[in-house]
Amino acid sequence: MRGGMTERDVTKEALGIISAASFLPRLVVFDLDYTLWPFYCECSSKRETPYLYPEAKSILNALKKKDVKMAVASRTPTPEIARTFLNKLGLTNLFVDLEIFPSWTHKTDHFKNIHEKTSIPFNSMLFFDDEYRNIKSVSQMGVTSVHVDDGVNIKALKKGLTDFARSQNQLTSNSS
Ligand SMILES: [Mg+2]
Repeated sequence: MRGGMTERDVTKEALGIISAASFLPRLVVFDLDYTLWPFYCECSSKRETPYLYPEAKSILNALKKKDVKMAVASRTPTPEIARTFLNKLGLTNLFVDLEIFPSWTHKTDHFKNIHEKTSIPFNSMLFFDDEYRNIKSVSQMGVTSVHVDDGVNIKALKKGLTDFARSQNQLTSNSS
């Protein structure tokens, strides 16, 4: 966390950013490894105590408070460990859908499943991931996709909402 900020301070900052956004996504989708937590869960054991990037919990809390739906899209080879860690962190109930399975498709299958289950259009979704190949394939489906290089934090949230608003403005101007 930056310079002595508490989890509550960061949540407050995140709430301000979300409130100021001109458009909000209907669903925000998160990768797990190196996006919500700073490790590969396949290298851990279920007995370990997981932890998140310092600002991630505040971002999740703020989105929840603003009634923005959330989901997980993870290509881990160890879905059981990922699910155990989400449980241990008390996060499982925050998400409307958990798509956690290995695949070669760079998450396009994960997003098809999310769309089938939620009926939310791809262009109403915002996605955070640390791997460029996932960002590339998922953005081609119409999802606003943001690369994170230091996990989900305030900076990533700002960029995500700015990029999302821009995409909505383009949709509006194309249809008029
Ligand atoms: Mg990752």
